[in-house]
Amino acid sequence: MSTPTTAARTPLRVRPVLMYHSISASTAPDPHRLRVHPDRLDRHLRRLRRLGLRGVGLTELLRAQERGEAGRLVALTFDDGYTDFLEHAAPLLQRHGMTATLYVVAGRMDGANDWDSGPRLPIMGADQVRAVAAAGHEVGSHTMTHARLAGADPATLTAEVTGSRRVLQDVLQAEVAGFCYPYGAYDTAAADAVAAAGYDNGCVIGDYSPGDRFTVPRCYVSPQDTAAHLVARMARHQLLQRGR
Ligand SMILES: [Zn+2]
Repeated sequence: MSTPTTAARTPLRVRPVLMYHSISASTAPDPHRLRVHPDRLDRHLRRLRRLGLRGVGLTELLRAQERGEAGRLVALTFDDGYTDFLEHAAPLLQRHGMTATLYVVAGRMDGANDWDSGPRLPIMGADQVRAVAAAGHEVGSHTMTHARLAGADPATLTAEVTGSRRVLQDVLQAEVAGFCYPYGAYDTAAADAVAAAGYDNGCVIGDYSPGDRFTVPRCYVSPQDTAAHLVARMARHQLLQRGR
């Protein structure tokens, strides 16, 4: 069976998809504004619950949506695979009866965020990635090296997209369905590579141009977002999707 091209794939609108990175009480500099305090995440999850909403991984959200059962779901996603997900996010998610997708930079396991100029944050090793899956969360790919895929040549796309899926599937001994574009940077060739590699879906950041399940838009959650900000971001997401 051939892989459908972008033009042949089905346009898709989804429920809100929230994007987090590091969850930590650290007070080190955070120049890229990627760190949310655990107490703040707790307040966000509590507010979702009070609104009758439940957080799940993105693949679960898309599957529920196909069955017409996603009305009270939002997707929670955490990028890069930082060890603080297990320390802080996973216990909070468990307490609130929620799950999430963790997107791991597969070639940096047991390493750090060396692609970025900010403070070094440790990335999980294979055992920790398996522990995340065992706790009921989805593990998705965030490439091998956190490469910018827009404009990448075919060999780079294969190494980063197909290669990272293979690595994570080896670690998990299970299918990896979700993909996340570093920096949200993608183009048609990158989205086609994600589909061809066998992923079920791919997500970007705040880009609401028409797209399908391989370019699902997400809302950035800032370190300063109160629960009220989060609700406003979700409302904006629903509004912007109408143009998709
Ligand atoms: Zn990232």
